[in-house]
Amino acid sequence: MPKYVYDFTEGNKDLKDLLGGKGANLAEMTNLGLPVPAGFTITTEACRSFLTDGGVPEGLWDEVEAHLRDMETGMGKRLGAAGDPLLVSVRSGAKFSMPGMMETVLNIGLNDESVHGLAEQAGDERFAWDSYRRLIQMFGRTVLGIEGDRFEDAIDDAKRTKGVDSDLDLGAADFQHLVEIYKGIVKDATGEEFPSDPRSQMRMAVEAVFNSWNAPRAVVYRRQERIPADLGTAVNIVAMVFGNLGMDSGTGVAFTRDPGSGQQGVYGDYLQNAQGEDVVAGIRNTLPLQELEKIDPASYRQLIGIMETLENHYRDLCDIEFTIERGKLWMLQTRVGKRTAGAAFRIATQLADQGLIDLDEAVERVSGDQLAQLMFPRFAIHADLRPIAKGMNASPGAAVGKAVFSSARAEELSGQGEDVILVRRETTPDDLAGMIAARGVLTSRGGKTSHAAVVARGMGKTCVCGAERLEVDAKERRFTGPGGVVVEEGDVISIDGTTGEVYLGEVPVMASPVVEYFEGTGGTGDALVQAVHRIMTHADERRRMAVRANADTPEDAARARRFGAQGIGLCRTEHMFLGERRQLVEDLILAVSPEERQAALDALEPLQKSDFVGILAAMDGLPVTIRLIDPPLHEFLPDLTALSVKVALAGDDAADRDRKLLAAVKRLHEQNPMLGLRGVRLGLVIPGLFAMQVRAIAQAAVERRAAGGDPRAEIMIPLVSAVQELEGVRDETERILERAGVEALIGTMIEVPRAALTAGQIAEAARFFSFGTNDLTQMTWGFSRDDVEAAFFSRYLELGIFGVSPFESIDRAGVGRLMTIAVEEGRKTRPDLKIGICGEHGGDPESVRFCHEIGLDYVSCSPFRVPVARLEAGRAALSGGGSDSR
Ligand code: PEP
Ligand code: MG
Repeated sequence: MPKYVYDFTEGNKDLKDLLGGKGANLAEMTNLGLPVPAGFTITTEACRSFLTDGGVPEGLWDEVEAHLRDMETGMGKRLGAAGDPLLVSVRSGAKFSMPGMMETVLNIGLNDESVHGLAEQAGDERFAWDSYRRLIQMFGRTVLGIEGDRFEDAIDDAKRTKGVDSDLDLGAADFQHLVEIYKGIVKDATGEEFPSDPRSQMRMAVEAVFNSWNAPRAVVYRRQERIPADLGTAVNIVAMVFGNLGMDSGTGVAFTRDPGSGQQGVYGDYLQNAQGEDVVAGIRNTLPLQELEKIDPASYRQLIGIMETLENHYRDLCDIEFTIERGKLWMLQTRVGKRTAGAAFRIATQLADQGLIDLDEAVERVSGDQLAQLMFPRFAIHADLRPIAKGMNASPGAAVGKAVFSSARAEELSGQGEDVILVRRETTPDDLAGMIAARGVLTSRGGKTSHAAVVARGMGKTCVCGAERLEVDAKERRFTGPGGVVVEEGDVISIDGTTGEVYLGEVPVMASPVVEYFEGTGGTGDALVQAVHRIMTHADERRRMAVRANADTPEDAARARRFGAQGIGLCRTEHMFLGERRQLVEDLILAVSPEERQAALDALEPLQKSDFVGILAAMDGLPVTIRLIDPPLHEFLPDLTALSVKVALAGDDAADRDRKLLAAVKRLHEQNPMLGLRGVRLGLVIPGLFAMQVRAIAQAAVERRAAGGDPRAEIMIPLVSAVQELEGVRDETERILERAGVEALIGTMIEVPRAALTAGQIAEAARFFSFGTNDLTQMTWGFSRDDVEAAFFSRYLELGIFGVSPFESIDRAGVGRLMTIAVEEGRKTRPDLKIGICGEHGGDPESVRFCHEIGLDYVSCSPFRVPVARLEAGRAALSGGGSDSR
């Protein structure tokens, strides 16, 4: 039979899976010899068994009884005994902290007899009756499921009758009376008496804590924090200590260093004559922890010593909860504390300086997500700034602009050079153009996986979503907020995608010092910048994978280089066919003779060449992977409906070119362009198109060389599914390069499942692979991103079919499996095959790790994500995962 109960002396901090975070750390502190009240932990395994079978596992109560008896012997008291009762708390504690989500019951063991014993023991009648009524209230609410307001109303009545405002003005007799009223409420609500048997109280509380794992708010919290639903919670049974026994008692919370900045010092709050809930509930104002030095110097000194012990032991910032009972200090909880992104970097380097950890570990202590947070611009917040509403922090950053309520208006105003914030109840794919035009997006509905959130994050656009207290009226072009605030179209608002806060008016924005550091424009004196610099430098030393950027303009390429990119992994060429050049593409499509087609291509060629010259110059000496044109041709033609209307309205007067265009648009129209005539297929069907691009690349390289540069172009063919497709294009490309006297690697994207599965053959014709995980994800799952994200992704996330969107993080089991096959087969054919990734996933921390593990040579991502990828590649190399086959 499994062991379901561990005494605090039996556990340790590494047993969080079994004992939960609280239980494991209480055990750790006990074993460090710190003053922890006696207690034991019921395992998460017992909880899981309870939730599956609908009852406690066999033998659990016997085990609990044995541990309880040991505890009673140790303390020289019996649970709930009339004369001098032992009281316990029953506390939840899962592996991951879920603050306030599950239940806790204090003062278990009190009843009509033991309340007198407690009064005598404490020398305080009022305290005893107050404790008893707290038990009935907490127990009634959490174990018996009685509406909490019924108890609150009763206490309000008692105060009203007595003509006082505060609980502190109620005396022993008042609480004694309240106990009777509370017992009446329990009887009325449940039909049963309040259980007076201490052991029954304890068992019922344990079961209630088990059940609270599946309370609706806990379920929602887990989903949001991506905590698996099947872990269960542990339950801690701890001897009660009281911080509310007078002014020589109290309770507090503390951090071993500032979780906001990382600075070392004494950070915390203390409340005299109070229990833990009073601090959390914020009923009375707390004192800064330093005050304790005057109030109780001995306890203060002991506490500071313990904090040092804990920090040295955990080698990290710890947060703690403690209680002082009549001058005796008790530790009630500790854990490695949460911290801001900035503090994480600073603390990691401070600990390295103190010799508590080495730099390798410092790199592992921070994350790419934290670095990304430090790179967004932020608001210069000052004290009298008050948000009008708060929503979900869906996509970080700080955005200021005029509120607009439709996508069209967003485009219109931004076209006039105005900054706008697009405000919608929720967004749909129809809002895409408006989202692109806006500085930020604000919605009143939907969570972190709503359309607005998913799309905004993809675009790196600031977004606050689900600000439910805002009433958005798109028709009237305004929204109303709490307290009757009205914002009309054109009024300026500021939204903070990092905190979810919404402000009226313009809040000044500060550039991130970390970005200034990467750009080389900022100072290096800032402590945070210094910490980032040290950690990045070390991550660069440790990583095996190179990091490149996806960039298709010289400006983006230059920025990427400043951010540490070691080349371009994807230079898309389609934008080079837009704008004024559209006309030339139309000519190409409308051409009826080879001569006409060649003329259009000849006109495009020098323009393309100059594009490439700029990019090769910005990345001089580093590889630049240029991808030949990919999207279907209709994307360069006018919209079918608009053009049909135009031609129909003009009747006989319609321009000849418009008619021809319409015919072409109809001919090229595809039901599912994603799976249609694009990529290499286009290159094979439209003679001369790819050749023109290759010539432009070759000439650009020649020109750069003549200018003393070191151009390193690589040519990449998109959407290949069969080696035969690639062979044709490769042969022609090689001929053109040879004629120009230019050398360039020729490779392919792996973005169609068939290409991954036949990678062994494809590697015969490709010198490198680059995973196009955007398309590979779409084709592996059989859905098109634009169609499905808004349609059903939130439902899929709710149902747990996705843990996270497969467009955000690589789906290891499916897409990842195809990638693994492609890497293995490709290298079997060509051991020196260079392999990278250029889909959006290249900048996602989890995906970077995966790419390291399967042995890729580089990841490529948007310029802004380059530092994140560098850091994550370093972390992946350090955590030991990955193939050493190369
Ligand atoms: C991809 O499919 O992952 C890719 C990089 O190509 P695109 O997004 O341009 O289709
Ligand atoms: Mg693609």
